Amino acid sequence: MRILVIGGGAREHALCHALTRDPAVTELHAAPGNAGIAELATCHAVDQLDGSAVAELALRLGAELVVVGPEAPLVAGVADAVRAAGVPVFGPGAEAARLEGSKAFAKEVMASAGVPTARSYVCATPAEADAALDAFGPPYVVKDDGLAAGKGVVVTEDLAVARAHARSCERVVIEEYLDGPEVSLFAVTDGETVVPLTPAQDFKRALDDDRGPNTGGMGAYTPLPWADPGLTDEVLQTVLRPTVAEMSRRGAPFSGLLYAGLALTSRGVRVVEFNARFGDPETQVVLARLETPLAGLLLASATGELADFPPLRWSDGAAVTVVVAAEGYPESPRSGDPIGGLDAVAAEDGPAVYVLHAGTRGDEAGRVVSAGGRVLSVTALGADLAEARERAYRAVGRIELAGSHHRTDIAARAASAGGA
Ligand code: AMP
Repeated sequence: MRILVIGGGAREHALCHALTRDPAVTELHAAPGNAGIAELATCHAVDQLDGSAVAELALRLGAELVVVGPEAPLVAGVADAVRAAGVPVFGPGAEAARLEGSKAFAKEVMASAGVPTARSYVCATPAEADAALDAFGPPYVVKDDGLAAGKGVVVTEDLAVARAHARSCERVVIEEYLDGPEVSLFAVTDGETVVPLTPAQDFKRALDDDRGPNTGGMGAYTPLPWADPGLTDEVLQTVLRPTVAEMSRRGAPFSGLLYAGLALTSRGVRVVEFNARFGDPETQVVLARLETPLAGLLLASATGELADFPPLRWSDGAAVTVVVAAEGYPESPRSGDPIGGLDAVAAEDGPAVYVLHAGTRGDEAGRVVSAGGRVLSVTALGADLAEARERAYRAVGRIELAGSHHRTDIAARAASAGGA
């Protein structure tokens, strides 16, 4: 199978890594890719937001499947353009991608489908926002309605900060605070059948102990030793299937990856958000443990054949990923710094440890340099979380990137005390 992957982050590197493990994959292309993806795939300099350019590339390459990684091309209708060109595509069309592209739309779908989520108000004026903030009280949760790369949400005890964020958004969703640990559950769907993957947890805050600003994600792990074994099935019944059915009922069937961000509150499971694509960095750990060949699964979603797909197989053991971020991330990341130590990880740490590239590129001198906020996702498998964690951090220690930072507590509590 000839496959074209759209995107150029660590999620897409993880997808390419898993696709190259699938014997059915004979040729792998990426657009635009990055320095790490270039070792596995042929990279093409195409604007990933330009649907006709992506469709043209897919046709020229004779791609039998296009996998759209990031949200922005999905919301821009890139999957629609590829589908219209007659090429199977993994990822929802623009209408269905609104589940991620508009938090207000997602709330409306959840209300129609009876999916448990935080109570919320959609506000278009400062007066409405102030009234909603007063109604819920602290901690305040204020969300930009549109796409903001995981950075449009402010959770704060400070009313002035909450008000200021609400005023900086054109349309804002203000909602009740949800307590309890968070879980990310991905599901592959073709618009009818829903196949959940294994749950993972990510770490959104920039600093240890969940301090600092929200980021795109600083690390992740799976499995979750503290979670109820019935959680996946419960979410399948109460969240995933009703949402997919509701989207079909609305004439905007959702196919691709439905990502449910969940809070396990004292009053039960609540949806924090939906995303319309694989989450980064959870994908890095989830795909590390997937033994089912990935290309076949994604193709079955693209062609509407998931009903006949065999049950997924997962490796025993655990996976941990630690994000190495550039100096200044998330506020003002610096780029252009050379990255050292990649060869040492490859030489010393064995196949259970690998470095996935996010914001990297090759420079004129042939060096790999930083080119984004989140630079690398150092990923390790182990017999258990403690071993995976130890391996991941040993490899992080070999990476040389001036001014970089990473969290030191990814999966720490789960590995030692089995807690969230
Ligand atoms: P979102 O982009 O909606 O996932 O929000 C980013 C992060 O903000 C989530 O992962 C949570 O950590 C936090 N968050 C969002 N909504 C809530 C909520 N209602 N209560 C508490 N925390 C929230």
